[in-house]
Amino acid sequence: MATINKKEHVVILGAGPAGLATGHELSVSGVKVSVIDRNDFVGGLCNTNVYKGYKFDLGGHRWFTKNEDLNNWFRRLMGSEVVWVERISRIYYDGGYYSYPISILNVIKNTGIPTIIHAGVTYLISALQYSVFNKPIMNMKDAYVAQFGGKLYDMFFRRYSEKVWGLPCEKLSSDWVSQRSAGLSIWTVIQESLLKTKSDNESLIEEFMYPRDGYVRIPERMAEDIVAQNGNEAVKLDSTVTKIKYNGPNDFEVIYADKDGGETSIAATTVVSTIPLGVLPRIMEPACDQAVIDAAKGLSFRALITVNVILKKERVSIDTWLYIQDEDILFGRLHEPKNWSPAMVPDQSTTSLVLECFCTKDDHIWSMTDEEVGQRCVEDLEKKLKFIDSSEVIDFTCVRTLQAYPVYDLEYADKIATINEFLSGFEGLHIVGRGGTHRYNNADHSIEMGLLLGRKILGYEVDHMDVNTESEYHEIKTSRDLKRDYYVIEEECN
Ligand SMILES: Cc1cc2nc3c(=O)[nH]c(=O)nc-3n(C[C@H](O)[C@H](O)[C@H](O)COP(=O)(O)OP(=O)(O)OC[C@H]3O[C@@H](n4cnc5c(N)ncnc54)[C@H](O)[C@@H]3O)c2cc1C
Repeated sequence: MATINKKEHVVILGAGPAGLATGHELSVSGVKVSVIDRNDFVGGLCNTNVYKGYKFDLGGHRWFTKNEDLNNWFRRLMGSEVVWVERISRIYYDGGYYSYPISILNVIKNTGIPTIIHAGVTYLISALQYSVFNKPIMNMKDAYVAQFGGKLYDMFFRRYSEKVWGLPCEKLSSDWVSQRSAGLSIWTVIQESLLKTKSDNESLIEEFMYPRDGYVRIPERMAEDIVAQNGNEAVKLDSTVTKIKYNGPNDFEVIYADKDGGETSIAATTVVSTIPLGVLPRIMEPACDQAVIDAAKGLSFRALITVNVILKKERVSIDTWLYIQDEDILFGRLHEPKNWSPAMVPDQSTTSLVLECFCTKDDHIWSMTDEEVGQRCVEDLEKKLKFIDSSEVIDFTCVRTLQAYPVYDLEYADKIATINEFLSGFEGLHIVGRGGTHRYNNADHSIEMGLLLGRKILGYEVDHMDVNTESEYHEIKTSRDLKRDYYVIEEECN
């Protein structure tokens, strides 16, 4: 076992956006960092797969944050690589197309006045129950019904949520709704679509930034800067962290295995973990007790198979995303990379699609072969959505991701508390990121957390765990948005 000893050395587990952002922030301040990842690429879930010259994100990833300081950081990082994308998202529901976020006028057009009256009545009932009689919100279903009423919940939230999570909404925590759509209600929807009275400083997100050659360019740019500062060895790929030994405050040994199983140990003064929170306590030494192991085993993920299709056709859709509610269609969401950036396809007379099939390891979807999943998706595109003719398919390929979506079941918060209590005993160990904190982060959240953690390690009075905890609807920008103004000093220096 090779041993590399270094003083003042921050070892970061995971080269996804959170780990790289922490490493980036520390590197620019001259701190020595090593970033270790089990994959042979950087980016984690933000990877862009390249197949026959076509570039496929792991599901369409847009760059969006309400934090203008973070946007400025992003623009500095990405320079001339940024393109602007018009956002057109729709929901496919029972054979019809609905705009997303929901518009009341569009619902009336598609379903008629009786459905709207039905939606209005169920909304009034739920307003009485939850606002007047203070019925407690116990789960995801309650949270949606309290916000939108039973009818709209049933039309636009139940089926899609259950497709993503593979569980009835009654078995999922309401936290997901409060993190993703607090502040959005039937009134906001009416205001947006009918009254148009939103104030000038509130706006629905209608366009977003995107890296011209695929989302992976964001983590790649961070990794390039880390390597420029710390040398090639600073980012170690194909390396799975298997053990973290704690010898005392700020004194760790991190052990990782290469592809052939050969082990290396490096000394660290600080360890930053973005590997799943359900895994970390189980590789710590001294070991945790059975209650922590049980909590860790109980934190689960939903998996994802993305089917990347190449087509002999100029364009398939107008959408940036299309959400598919219907259960008889295997995939739950699709996007056409060319609609985000023409550079995603090598030949403009052709196009491509990414189809997201949500599943759980070993369930009936995961157990299908790649060929079966791909063929079934092509069939759904042709026969159910009528988007393509199967003769237009040049090729397809599948990508399987096990830890795609951290599941918020009804007990997840207790399990996290048990694990965090155990981890708080290791001085110099920090957790960050989506799987790392078991928090449903977008990439911007993970990057913001990482940058703030970097600042915290540098001695600033900031708390990265505050990110993505505010109950704000992510789709509307308002003048009330938090400005975590931590990049001002850097801004002034530039
Ligand atoms: C289908 C889909 C669509 C999405 N769309 C968007 C979007 O439009 N906009 C947006 O902002 N976000 C989007 N996201 C979310 C975004 O991908 C994540 O928030 C982001 O990648 C999280 O970054 P992270 O660094 O926290 O975690 P990850 O990206 O999961 O990185 C963790 C890293 O840790 C590594 N690792 C794990 N275990 C070990 C180990 N034992 N040893 C070494 N390395 C290890 C992994 O290989 C991985 O590289 C989407 C996610 C999915 C799945």
